[in-house]
This record gives sequence, structure tokens and C-alpha cells, in this order.
Amino acid sequence: MKTLKQNFYSVKSQIHQAEIACGREEGSVKLLAVSKTKPAIDITTLYELGQRDFGENYLQEALKKQQQLTALKINWHFIGPIQSNKTKAIANHFNWVHSVDRLKIAKRLSQQRPTHLPPLNICLQVNISDELTKSGVSLLELPKLVTEISLLTNIRLRGVMAIPAPQVAYELQREPYRRLYQEVIKLKALQLDTFSFGMTGDLNAAIAEGSTMVRIGTALFGKRL
Ligand SMILES: *Cc1c(COP(=O)(O)O)cnc(C)c1O
Repeated sequence: MKTLKQNFYSVKSQIHQAEIACGREEGSVKLLAVSKTKPAIDITTLYELGQRDFGENYLQEALKKQQQLTALKINWHFIGPIQSNKTKAIANHFNWVHSVDRLKIAKRLSQQRPTHLPPLNICLQVNISDELTKSGVSLLELPKLVTEISLLTNIRLRGVMAIPAPQVAYELQREPYRRLYQEVIKLKALQLDTFSFGMTGDLNAAIAEGSTMVRIGTALFGKRL
């Protein structure tokens, strides 16, 4: 079995190779280590190798790990589905939220973000696959939501996040990311600088289509049970 350290350097190298292969600037794609279901010790291991951004899906689990890791200067990203009754804790304990898909949640996060903290960084989760998944705003509704959310004061809209339907073929993996990228560019919302695209199975395709942040769990920490 490969160690966490070996996995980390192999993922970093894969990102670097993909940047070069598609003519992207080196270092333009950030690694978000998705540590859901994995213990705090794994986070510490990657932290010691220089990793600072970690993503969690489940609030209670994340808060528990944060309590164990208060000594570390981690950027915490919330990437899971958000219920209204969780927004206060999320607004208090995270630096980024990738999974905002409606105005109501954005408003609550803005209202509940403590003013002594910097604005909460937000990505809108967009549903770009034609399957009947519930989370994510549609491409059609995206422009209106971007406009509305840009007016909120304690959050900072940074970009979009997408989880396309799984595909094995590289070209099919690229297609939904390309479509979303084109739509976002059309919005001409200059403050948008983040494309949260790509997971273990499709990071090369995501980087080829403009990803600025890949969310990697399995390739770093191994399979989740
Ligand atoms: C679990 C998860 C990931 C990581 O997926 P892997 O395939 O393990 O790399 C990325 N993004 C979101 C939103 C997730 O829930």
C-alpha cells in the first residue's frame, strides 16, 4: 500500500503534469484535500507536507476534527449539501463554501458570518449533467443567482463548483466542464476567479477545461468505506 505521503506527491505531480500538458500556468490549479471520513491524523500528515486547504462534507465530523486541529492554520472548505439549520455553524467555522445552490442559503451565510472574520468565500454549485440530481443551480438560473448573491455583504462570490455525472472517457469528462466554463466567462463577472472542477476520477479533464481548484479525496487518502 502506498503511503499518504507518496499519494500526496503523486497527486501534486499529476496536477503539475496536467497544467503543462494543456498550457496552463504552473501553480494555477490548487489542490483541495477532501478529508471526509478520514481521521485528523491524516490531515496533520498532509499539513506537515505543506497542504493547507482541506474539504469536508459533513458538519459534525468537520467540527470535531477542527477542534482536534486548532493549532494548525488550515483553510477549511465546506463542500457538502447544506441544510438551513447548518448555515450558522458553517458561517462561523469555514473559510470557503463550494456547495451554495440557492439564494436563501447565501443570505443566511452572509447574515450569520461574524463581522470580525473576512467575508466567507462562496462557490455556486451548478448542475451541469442532465441527470436528475437535486443539488445545484441550473445553467439557466445561474446568471440571476450570481447577480443576487454578488450584492450580499459578508460573503464573497468566487466562482462555481460542479460534480458532473461520472464518465470514463476523457472527452466525455471534459464536455460538461467546458459548457459551464463558457457560461461563466459570458457573465463577465470579473470577481469570479474560481472553478472548483475535478475529483480523483476526472482531474485531468477538469484541468484541461479551466479548473483552478481540484477536490481530491480517494487519490490522497485511499478508498472511503
Ligand atoms: C467526496 C467528494 C470529493 C472527492 O472525491 P474523490 O473521488 O474521492 O476524489 C470531491 N468533491 C465533493 C463535493 C465530494 O463530496
